[in-house]
Amino acid sequence: MKAPSKLPPRQLFIGGKWRDAKDGASFTSRNPVDGSAICEIAAAGADDVDLAVRTASEAFASSGWKEMGGTARGRILFKAADLIEAEMEYLSAVETLEVGKLYRDGLYGDLPATLATFRYYAGYADKLYGSTVQLPDYAGRHRLNYTLREPLGVVGAITPWNNPIVVAGWKIVPALAAGNSMVIKPPEDASLSLLRLAEILQEAGVPDGVFNVVPGLGETAGAALAAHPGLAKLSFTGSPEVGALMSNHAGGQFRKVTLELGGKNPQIVFADANLDGAMPFIAAGNFLHQGQVCAAGTRVYVHRSLVDEVANRLVDHARNIKLGDPFDDAVGMGPLVNAAQHKRVADYLELGVSEGAELLTGGNLVERDGYFVEPTVFVGQQQQRIAREEIFGPVATIMPFDSTDEVLELANDTHFGLNAIIYTEDLNRAHRTARDLNVGNVWINAFGIPDMTTPWGGRGGSGLGREMGPAGIESYTEEKTVQMMF
Ligand code: NAD
Repeated sequence: MKAPSKLPPRQLFIGGKWRDAKDGASFTSRNPVDGSAICEIAAAGADDVDLAVRTASEAFASSGWKEMGGTARGRILFKAADLIEAEMEYLSAVETLEVGKLYRDGLYGDLPATLATFRYYAGYADKLYGSTVQLPDYAGRHRLNYTLREPLGVVGAITPWNNPIVVAGWKIVPALAAGNSMVIKPPEDASLSLLRLAEILQEAGVPDGVFNVVPGLGETAGAALAAHPGLAKLSFTGSPEVGALMSNHAGGQFRKVTLELGGKNPQIVFADANLDGAMPFIAAGNFLHQGQVCAAGTRVYVHRSLVDEVANRLVDHARNIKLGDPFDDAVGMGPLVNAAQHKRVADYLELGVSEGAELLTGGNLVERDGYFVEPTVFVGQQQQRIAREEIFGPVATIMPFDSTDEVLELANDTHFGLNAIIYTEDLNRAHRTARDLNVGNVWINAFGIPDMTTPWGGRGGSGLGREMGPAGIESYTEEKTVQMMF
């Protein structure tokens, strides 16, 4: 696929119309392969965000979206899925262009996952039941007691750049399926796929004002949206630092909040692991999308008897990764997303060496245009910062262990709790370990297999609430209990 390198300017999408920011502000979207400009995008300010929230609120009250019922909303969302399916190449291409992720990973990974989200929640839209409870008679009278499941109102969403359309879909589709309206602030490094999605939703039949997109900078558009008193819920995916700010906004206003934050996730390789099966997953857990994945498994705990073998194989894998144009099928890693991320990873590479970790391969920025960095493998120790902090780059830290109890203690010794990956052929050990890990998700003998049908989310510093599965749509509804005597 050869993508265009320049695209026309884009605007804000509010009330079904395209418009510039009130103050005329814009920002430049850049290609991380060489830093060149892709296009100019209107940058929403507080006034624009306010307009978007008020528009969404009016649409919630009077567009008919919440009244039309789940079956009709589902039909529209199924149609949107078909339209997305017809445009998978365009949507993958603009994400590769803006973010540097491999085009094939988008086309065969992110876009099918987005379709799954649309179709799962489109089908769920008319299956959001309340419940009835049979109560005993009271003072000689019968009682009826039931619950209604109602939409919340205006949902605000703020999303990250690493998997732009997939992660946004986990918020947009359940929120709309349940009858809410929405204002979403895409990441400044990846606005284009969501702006195209706005057109697709409009074409599919979502009424004007129900879905609004306010691209812009985090500190302006994002902060204004998070602080807006008109939101019934804020759903945020991004870094723990910004997530903590979101939590403050939400608390002050007694609104619902979902936070999907970072991780420093353990991959645990037991002595009986099938390494031929495990190694591709261990490598993907560190190098997929240049390590810019919340689920990345960059703390690689290896039973002492296998440390040399796992290290050698991971190093071989890393050295064979070709860096370059993410549209090229022969390339295994594109650039990091932007200059700030490049510097952040470079600082961690230096830190690893100065902390005394043993550098097995990589460790350098790449001498070329764009934000490239070598896939890197360290052997390190639990207390080193490279083994404790989320780097969000292709940097693995291998650490040896001797017993199951010891590795559980090491794996749980973190304030994060997103996910963990276990490699073993022993069923009992697999399930015992899964039970005792303090995380939201465990994968056994595989990496990277979230599924729409089951919830995803973190504990502790990795977040609050769940997305995907039934929990992922129920969180966009409020239950009301109705009791009657007769
Ligand atoms: P980020 O926190 O820098 O930005 C996320 C979003 O917040 C962006 O839209 C940004 O513009 C906005 N933002 C920034 N400052 C803001 C502020 N002061 N007020 C309001 N909004 C603001 O994160 P990122 O770099 O885009 O994404 C990477 C992070 O996201 C990593 O920590 C990663 O682990 C996490 N992530 C988690 C999941 C998950 O499912 N748990 C999925 C993807 C990414």
